[in-house]
Amino acid sequence: MKNEPCFALALHGGAGTITRASLTPEMDNAYRQALQQALSVGYQVLQQGGTSLAAVEATVVSLEDCPLFNAGRGSVFNKRGTHEMDAAIMDGKNLGAGAVTGVRNVRNPILLASQVLHHSDHVFLCQQGAEEFARNHGLSFEPDDYFFTQQRYDQWQALRDSDTYMLDHSSEAMDKKFGTVGAVALDLQGNLAAATSTGGMTNKNYNRIGDTPIIGAGTYANNRTCAISCTGHGEYFMRNVVAYDISCLMEYKGLSLSEASALVVHHKLKEQGGEGGLVAVDFNAEVAMPFNSEGMYRASWVSGQEPVVAIYEE
Ligand code: ASP
Repeated sequence: MKNEPCFALALHGGAGTITRASLTPEMDNAYRQALQQALSVGYQVLQQGGTSLAAVEATVVSLEDCPLFNAGRGSVFNKRGTHEMDAAIMDGKNLGAGAVTGVRNVRNPILLASQVLHHSDHVFLCQQGAEEFARNHGLSFEPDDYFFTQQRYDQWQALRDSDTYMLDHSSEAMDKKFGTVGAVALDLQGNLAAATSTGGMTNKNYNRIGDTPIIGAGTYANNRTCAISCTGHGEYFMRNVVAYDISCLMEYKGLSLSEASALVVHHKLKEQGGEGGLVAVDFNAEVAMPFNSEGMYRASWVSGQEPVVAIYEE
């Protein structure tokens, strides 16, 4: 451990074909502002001595409420023209976890995952059972209109009569972009946490489940190693159990966080064509944000250092 107690936060807003040419200066600016805003929300929680769990939850709520990202309000349309959202949160202190999949009309799926973590004997709830649990725990619901964004609708219209599904923010010309949001944090007590939330992929099969809510695939935290939140083509992240694999490479093979995450993102996934990236922080406040796509909306802030907000390879 470093001498001074320190804390750290990292977040993402999705990865994919995000190039300088594909974003207007206005859009570039809007994304950076939204990333900075979410970063400040989580950083303040940590700075005031709050837990890493509270910090990742608050960060992801901020991203879910922003229509630019494919989670909560900005969720993509599935094959039936509806929004089905997935989310997970994990506490590295005790391996506590809460996850939900296929939920509809829940304003903030990450808050529902958090309720499952804190108030259920179970880890993973789906669809109506998860929604009933949300109602019983007083969570906010929103009508379908709340989740409507013209851009996502147009993306879906382009695909709806096909068997193609598409990763978020994509246009036909720009093929793939992913839009999940997530955050990882280390708090002053030395506890790690991770949270991830998504609308999945445009025109995804009804009831398809991605990597995001699967503990060990898209989301994982363990105080012995690291906290990880992934974004990308979920099927590859599930098959490679990406988040847990990185933790295991650290725990059993002694790799550093940057070595372990680079090995998985730049070699294992890349060799299989598994596009995407992740944000990670370890027990020592080291941050890694590797991606094998052209860009990834991301930000990080380690106490005592300057905040970082980035989109492309920069
Ligand atoms: N990983 C997410 C999924 O497969 C998609 C994304 O990251 O945008 O559902």
